[in-house]
Amino acid sequence: MTDDVITLFVEDARAVSVEDAAKRLGLKFPGKLHEHAQPCPHCGGTDTFSFNTKKNAWNCRAGGVGGRDGIGMVAHCEDLDVHRREKFLEACSIVLDRPIPEEAERESEDERAARRKRLEERRRQNEAESEARAISEADYREKERNKARGIYRPLAPLRTSSLPYGRFYLGRRCAGYPDATWLRVGADVTYWHGQDERGAPIALYSGPAIVAPFIGPDLELIGCHITWIDLDRAPKYRPLLYGLTKEGIAAGLVPWPLGDRPPSAEDLEAGLYEQLATKKMRGTKKGGLIPIAGDPQARRWVGGEGIENGVAFGEWEGWRDDSFYFAAGDLGNLSGPAEASSRFAHPVLKKPDAKGVLKPVMIAGPMPKRDQEADDAMWVGDQVDELVLLGDGDSERVMTAAAMARARARHARPGRLIPIVWPQAGCDFSKMAAEAEAGT
Ligand SMILES: [Zn+2]
Repeated sequence: MTDDVITLFVEDARAVSVEDAAKRLGLKFPGKLHEHAQPCPHCGGTDTFSFNTKKNAWNCRAGGVGGRDGIGMVAHCEDLDVHRREKFLEACSIVLDRPIPEEAERESEDERAARRKRLEERRRQNEAESEARAISEADYREKERNKARGIYRPLAPLRTSSLPYGRFYLGRRCAGYPDATWLRVGADVTYWHGQDERGAPIALYSGPAIVAPFIGPDLELIGCHITWIDLDRAPKYRPLLYGLTKEGIAAGLVPWPLGDRPPSAEDLEAGLYEQLATKKMRGTKKGGLIPIAGDPQARRWVGGEGIENGVAFGEWEGWRDDSFYFAAGDLGNLSGPAEASSRFAHPVLKKPDAKGVLKPVMIAGPMPKRDQEADDAMWVGDQVDELVLLGDGDSERVMTAAAMARARARHARPGRLIPIVWPQAGCDFSKMAAEAEAGT
């Protein structure tokens, strides 16, 4: 086998989009637009894994990995270590739906020349395509950022707004709210979900919401985070929204009308409707953070995954003057991606593999991935010498503990203290604050 045969084979595989790779893997396309969330074929879960056909990207929250190529996605789903050549070639072979070229292949001079030419063309084509993709991604990102600014900027600060929803929500969930202007509140923030027959987005719902900014290291607004509120719905005080799934559309069902009774348990079980998340973000989250209170110039920073936990903890310690309070938005943005070799088997949790055999659930490990990009996790000011990380006791403990250890390693600097604070088992700070407030 000459190296060229393999090189061409690999270049061919690199040209395969995430969308085509997803088809080869038999993944589902449940989303109505470009984003397709589902259980990870490798790690399990419910909506841990997703790929985006427009951004040509994939991500697994359970595994703490993601990327922008079909080969990487196939490798993760099929548990192939791309750092080992034969496993990498196997991933290429799955992506191309073609066997790995034979070792003993012989070829004439003419064949070799033709192949070299084809290889050269393929390389040029791949380069041109990735350049075009980068341009359209940048376009798309800028449009989304502008939408995020358009949602956030006209709103009044939660603390002083004539709309009481935000203060009531945080008061009930976190026993108080910050004396800062970062968090804002709107009376009629639109919840977009799905598309109509002409492909236009549908406004499923509109109602009161807290809108928080995502800011980059230069404090520029790069995205926004929206939490819809329904004060009649204890204990989380968030609206109950349902969406029709792709399966539901195929079965000829109609979208769930707002205010109607929830879909039947059987329909939900059959995946014809799904309960929708009532937190959303627009623009860019990656590498940014949500400021809650205080000055980002502070030497002490305090925060975790969600806004509620940050507010509850800030309230509990009396919003220290020397501290900046933040939220990362999600665990992945707090801790960054994991080094593949630090993955480990969950000590207890198991899930069935393709053959129905129970296998331990694999957990993204405590070691940060080598050679990370600066925006693979939230930024932390260089001046910070105490970074207090808040654990979320509500989530799966082993996975969260590994992610927190990874966050600590990722943000470690000489002379910087990074304590991790955990709430009571099975609880989070906002639940503790709410219970303390209610006197339970
Ligand atoms: Zn996974």
